[in-house]
Amino acid sequence: MTIENSIVEEGLASAPEKSLNFIEANVKEDLAEGKNDNRVQTRFPPEPNGYLHIGHAKAICMDFGIAQKYDGVCNLRFDDTNPSKEDVEYVDAIKEDIQWLGFNWKDIYFASDYFQKLWEFAVALIKEGKAYIDEQSAEDIAKQKGTPTQAGTDSPYRSRPVEENLKLFEAMNSGEIPEGAMVLRAKIDMANPNMHFRDPIIYRIIHHPHHRTGKTWHAYPMYDFAHGQSDYFEGVTHSICTLEFEVHRPLYDWFVDRLKDIRPEDGNYRPRQMEFNRLNLTYTMMSKRKLLQLVQEGLVSGWDDPRMPTLAGLRRRGYTPTAIRNFVDKIGYTKFEALIDVALLEHAVREDLNATAKRVSAVIDPVKLIITNYPEGKTELMEAVNNPEDESMGTHQIAFARELYIEREDFMENPVGKFFRMTPGQEVRLKNAYIVKCTGVKKDAGGNIEEIYAEYDPETKSGMPESNRKVKGTLHWVSVEHSLPAEVRLYDRLFSVENPAAEDTADFRELLNPDSLIIKQEARVEAELANAKPLERFQFQRIGYFNVDTDSTKDKLVFNRTVSLKDNKK
Ligand code: ATP
Ligand code: MG
Repeated sequence: MTIENSIVEEGLASAPEKSLNFIEANVKEDLAEGKNDNRVQTRFPPEPNGYLHIGHAKAICMDFGIAQKYDGVCNLRFDDTNPSKEDVEYVDAIKEDIQWLGFNWKDIYFASDYFQKLWEFAVALIKEGKAYIDEQSAEDIAKQKGTPTQAGTDSPYRSRPVEENLKLFEAMNSGEIPEGAMVLRAKIDMANPNMHFRDPIIYRIIHHPHHRTGKTWHAYPMYDFAHGQSDYFEGVTHSICTLEFEVHRPLYDWFVDRLKDIRPEDGNYRPRQMEFNRLNLTYTMMSKRKLLQLVQEGLVSGWDDPRMPTLAGLRRRGYTPTAIRNFVDKIGYTKFEALIDVALLEHAVREDLNATAKRVSAVIDPVKLIITNYPEGKTELMEAVNNPEDESMGTHQIAFARELYIEREDFMENPVGKFFRMTPGQEVRLKNAYIVKCTGVKKDAGGNIEEIYAEYDPETKSGMPESNRKVKGTLHWVSVEHSLPAEVRLYDRLFSVENPAAEDTADFRELLNPDSLIIKQEARVEAELANAKPLERFQFQRIGYFNVDTDSTKDKLVFNRTVSLKDNKK
């Protein structure tokens, strides 16, 4: 797989008008031909077994986007056919995340709403001699499947009489048969070149209570026996999913066609399944099973840990819905699997926040700077532009005083090479304030710099004629007295390898980046941030984009780095 990153530089918002993706083109064509009484109906069908991730956002933008664009409807359907892994916590989280992304469903459905109808359909298939109960183990059934070029072998239970099948199917649902002891299989064709037709399992036994239907059911339909039928019951016209389901499509059609014979009242049409490439991102693991493991083992703080690729994690990290939608729009939909450079996602949020985030000053790794010729006790309020990209955002004031903090890395006593920041004898500008020149330092016994001394030029205050004097560096700063203490959480990629899903390791946890979270306890932020609300987003000037973490309180401000100002991985 190649990594697609060539579009990083182009800028997402300025993308030229794109041609329709193939799915949209197909929908348009169906409308032009007057299919489905000119209706467009889609669904987004998550299984409530985890939180939504950025990959799901790609599916959501497609499912809801197509419906919006063609005056159709998109419903939310929970594909809740495996109670052992599902939970209402996930149902609620999924709803919240879809709405946060900016979409609204027309109705909410659950595959479990159709358990009775699906049961009746299965019984009808049994009666027609098209389904049978198999009592072999999963391993034995798998062994008989054959290979794509070699026919499978019939199960010894394949020609069980209808009456016996009906009785055993009832038994499967009684709660008295252990899990795995028997399954219901469709009797189709053990020699079909499409392996999915080789008597697929359509019902299995699960005793774990269901989060909606409780203990009513013990026999549960498999994905292939629930998905297409659910689409048909609801009137879905276009069932859009990811490429791995392409090989399932003939079976999807087969079941819907059998169902149409039995339940013509549900409409004389067949939903059209179409598949696009899933989203895979570098340095990211997208499997819900693995994400669950990270949560359960405490390797992250929860599903909304800001390092997680979940929508809840991205939200907490400071990502905007706009950035995610722009990203999805930029990568597009194709028929080819690819690995997308996570830098593209980062670029999208940087671009959105550049346009919308208020600029403030924060010093993450502070060292004291004393302006020795500035009067003690004096304070000046300096005017700071909130966003140079958007004049309407106005200005705010930042207090300047004799004692300031600057970033430790902005000072070098004996600079090597070109160093345009603070160093003895060199003038630098303090953003929105004065030009200053370093005159000396104070060190502790270990040689660490404790204080830096400088003198300011009173004629160089921002806005004065002398302020135009050429200096090479501009530093950010906060006042010691007026700034507030803060904790700042610096995030890096959760995995240290480019394509963790492709790594051949026994334990994917070995691939975790040990430096994915660095906590800075000593940061100082300007007083303007005293009333910042959780999730509010800012640019810390010269550093990056940050938001207020949900852990933040009035007494202890906590910020997350959403993304650095520039892509410094390149
Ligand atoms: P996972 O493999 O991460 O557990 P899933 O496919 O089992 O995900 P579902 O809840 O079944 O998750 O997915 C709901 C919808 O989202 C499906 O239509 C699925 O195709 C789509 N989807 C899931 N992952 C991605 C992805 N990485 N890119 C695009 N669409 C995705
Ligand atoms: Mg799934």
